[in-house]
Amino acid sequence: MYPDPSSRSQALHTRAKRTLPGGNTRTTVYLSPYPVYAAHGAGCRVHDVDGNELIDCINNFTALIHGHAHPVLAAAAHRQIDLGTAFGMPTESEIALAELLAERVPGIEHIRFTNSGTEAVMMALKAARAYTGRPRIAKVEGAYHGSYDYAETSLDASPANWGDAAAPASVAHSQGTPQGVTSDVVVLPFNDCQATEALLRAHGASLAGVLIDLLPNRVGLIPASAEYLLMLRRVTAELGILLIIDEVITLRLAPGGAQSRLGVTPDLTTVGKIMGGGFPVGGVAGRADVMAVFDPSGGRPAVPHGGTFSANPVSMVSGLAAMQLLDDAAYAKLDRHGDMLRLGLNQAFADACIAGQATGLGSLVKLHLKTGRLSNYRDAYPSPEQARAMARFNREMLNRGVLMASYGLIALSTPMRDQDIAQIIETAHEALNVLRR
Ligand code: PLP
Repeated sequence: MYPDPSSRSQALHTRAKRTLPGGNTRTTVYLSPYPVYAAHGAGCRVHDVDGNELIDCINNFTALIHGHAHPVLAAAAHRQIDLGTAFGMPTESEIALAELLAERVPGIEHIRFTNSGTEAVMMALKAARAYTGRPRIAKVEGAYHGSYDYAETSLDASPANWGDAAAPASVAHSQGTPQGVTSDVVVLPFNDCQATEALLRAHGASLAGVLIDLLPNRVGLIPASAEYLLMLRRVTAELGILLIIDEVITLRLAPGGAQSRLGVTPDLTTVGKIMGGGFPVGGVAGRADVMAVFDPSGGRPAVPHGGTFSANPVSMVSGLAAMQLLDDAAYAKLDRHGDMLRLGLNQAFADACIAGQATGLGSLVKLHLKTGRLSNYRDAYPSPEQARAMARFNREMLNRGVLMASYGLIALSTPMRDQDIAQIIETAHEALNVLRR
């Protein structure tokens, strides 16, 4: 049972605190009083260091679409490890992954690989500034795009700092963010066509790009409306602002990502997570004329970009194997399981008479301990009581063998079978019944 003061996870956390701040390296995996340490994983299950088996609904924050230790991915990685893991030279592997992505994703003509989604977003924003000659960017209120200062603005801002709903405040996320950053970011209210268009028109002359995730997790995992996307594409094109779609998570929604599923083609796309096959990866991609800012063939490029491990062949070959396994049948199964889970979880809320709902699309599902229509960050933002209840729900799930992210996000994987989805739903029924007491 969690928490258990005599557990090996607790002992490891005590040891970790001696050399890691708070015993922690990734804020996202912090759990109080201690995080559960992983020992190994296979398929959709992980084993913790205390011998508990858990269905993994985190999948390394959506990155592992084939679960753990998939034999095809493991074989690709092992072959490459025997041949060398990183070179100060390009390898054929990066061309093969670039070709696959350019073939599948509508907005990708050219791509440059990075080591993470954060770097991909950083390079996309730099490319947009270089291409347009404009300094500022616009992004959606509350949306997460990694740790680049500009992309973090307004992330997790608490209600006291929200400002006007039609013109949300540009709030720094970290005390390490330079003051100047906030004035270079325009924050957009998600799915509000009128207010967003007004902001873009008011600031258009200084805006290099609009950065948007079409299914933003921290904004409630609700899709951008068709109307909102049509407006964004029309107005950005008219004002000469680049539309940058962040597909770091949503590449898992369809072969062509959320942009193909929701029918909008951006100027730049950022990708990552699943396309590393379990290894670190990211990519900034888009129209060839915009991506030319990275082209060194005419001398120093407008935006120099390196990265010691960018396009390392282990990530490239494992990523290619992961993407090749994602055929139409794999996506259809992930979609069916996502629908099954949303339906089952909504039924579980109804049966337990607890105000709650499951949102999301395809293999991405999010739980909210509130009812009512959610269409933006402010609607989806949990009250302190809802956040506390979600933490309790997660703990009840964990103690019944289901591992979930602290903020209610579930990412499915291809090894999951109907029985696994049914088990997650059944466990949610039990956990909600405990919450009701
Ligand atoms: N963009 C989105 C939409 C993300 O969800 C994330 C990470 O979760 C990132 C960018 C940053 O990616 P990374 O964690 O690989 O730096």
